Amino acid sequence: MDDHAMGVEELSAALLEIEEQVITDSEAGYSTAAGLEQRAAALGDEGLLMRARLCRTALALATGRLAGIAWQLQDIQAWAQRHEDRLLQARTHLISSMIERMAGDGAKALEHALSAVELLDDTATTFTQIKHRTKLADALAQIGAMDAARVRYRQAEELAQAAHQWQRLIILLNNWAFLEHEAGEFSRAQHVAARMVEYAEAHAVDLDQSALHTLADIQVANGEYQQAATTMRTCIAQHEAGHVDQADDLAYFLLTLARAQRGLGDTTAAQHSLDACRALCDESGLNGPLVQAYGEQAELHAARGDYAAAFTAQKEFVAAQERLRSKEREAEAQIRHAIFETTEAREDARRFREQALRDPLTGLHNRRFVDEELSALIAVDPALSVALVDIDHFKRINDTLSHDTGDQVLVQVAKLLETGLAAVTPDGFVARIGGEEFLAVLPATPVAEAAAKLDTIRQAIADHVCDGLPDGWSVTVSIGVAAADETSPPAQSSALADADRNLYAAKHQGRNRVVTGTPRDRRVRAYRDREGT
Ligand code: GH3
Ligand code: MG
Ligand code: MG
Repeated sequence: MDDHAMGVEELSAALLEIEEQVITDSEAGYSTAAGLEQRAAALGDEGLLMRARLCRTALALATGRLAGIAWQLQDIQAWAQRHEDRLLQARTHLISSMIERMAGDGAKALEHALSAVELLDDTATTFTQIKHRTKLADALAQIGAMDAARVRYRQAEELAQAAHQWQRLIILLNNWAFLEHEAGEFSRAQHVAARMVEYAEAHAVDLDQSALHTLADIQVANGEYQQAATTMRTCIAQHEAGHVDQADDLAYFLLTLARAQRGLGDTTAAQHSLDACRALCDESGLNGPLVQAYGEQAELHAARGDYAAAFTAQKEFVAAQERLRSKEREAEAQIRHAIFETTEAREDARRFREQALRDPLTGLHNRRFVDEELSALIAVDPALSVALVDIDHFKRINDTLSHDTGDQVLVQVAKLLETGLAAVTPDGFVARIGGEEFLAVLPATPVAEAAAKLDTIRQAIADHVCDGLPDGWSVTVSIGVAAADETSPPAQSSALADADRNLYAAKHQGRNRVVTGTPRDRRVRAYRDREGT
């Protein structure tokens, strides 16, 4: 195995590791992915580069680096489509689904989640199959399609169970249970949560804070206050031991604990937990848990029999809820802006750039495009040929008929050149580089072969009956062809000069013909020879 192959294999394995892992430390994950992306770029392996870039983009989303995410995903998606890489396409849809959900568009999130599952084939690992089905189920549940969600969750559960993927199994059951609870389906939530606990115990997987919190919420909803309080204390202890997930986690934990304590009739302890929750919200500006804290305060006043205070707290709760909803909408709009606005700007830039490189009359590339592209093409493909194509006696058309007719003829000749070249050299291109002068570029085509191909195009133009011309008029072109590698090193300027000399010869020899191989000026050659020795 050579060095290169080893690099590729190693890198692929390293990528698989972050693709197929539940990443808990997103910041560290982001640096790892960025490092792998650089390595892939250094290896020059596009497939690996795209995989690494997608990993980095997913972690950029998780770490709040939103700018540019949407167009990066678009680029990756376009690449994956071109290369028929279904797995990469599916993965890209999965990230797009998460973005749409953050931006508050549940329908679009669902659309992407569906594609993320549909595009999976036998090459996808079980981990990916489970993960994508879980996200689809989440997206369905989030728009309220619980029945459809359950079907997907069940599929994912079976897959995870069969493959002994316990960690993914716990994640999916946690999501499922949580969303059943959110939908008010407390007994279903309880069943799912019970399976989650069973699996965790049977396979020695620790339930993380998120799972414990779901469990406690469900226990409160089902009146199991003692269990709920115990679960929450475990959860808070974990949090205090330094396993911090999200900023507002602790506030929510205290809230659930307060609810459990109120259920147990211990209003003093409940008030204590609630005060701690509110202090934390004030301190860190947490709106989500604060709103719920108002609601819980109303419940707590009512539990003590203080209905006047409960009524006031209830009013505060409703007002805070409305404020929160508008703040959330604002946040969603900001996310949308951060993620998508750059896309529009880039699209505009792309369009402007594209316009700047095209001739408005014929739609062909222009001279600027040639100047930007041709040298690079010659550098990697010295076997390419270039041809200058000039319309014969074009002035006559302008002078005898009209400038408009001349324009019409230019458009038709441009089309004939473009389609003619596409038929014989699909990766070549034609540009309009002057008034009635065009350049054809034929990659990897020796000059004799290029001349033969161009002669068929020349003939087609001569045979064509041009719209707008009176009967009996025909349009012909003269063509000068040259190989890029006739000089050393091969250069754009010398190739074009050679082609121009051949074009001049074609005109001189009577027009409507293709010419190659006119000798260079002797003095130039002699001068070069002297310089070379
Ligand atoms: P030759 O066979 O030697 O090439 O003769 P010619 O008449 O084609 O060559 P010449 O260079 O003398 O004339 C080119 C003419 O093309 C002159 C110019 O007015 C006309 N032309 C340049 N650009 C345009 C254009 O955009 N539209 C029209 N209608 N005419 C153009
Ligand atoms: Mg001409
Ligand atoms: Mg000319």
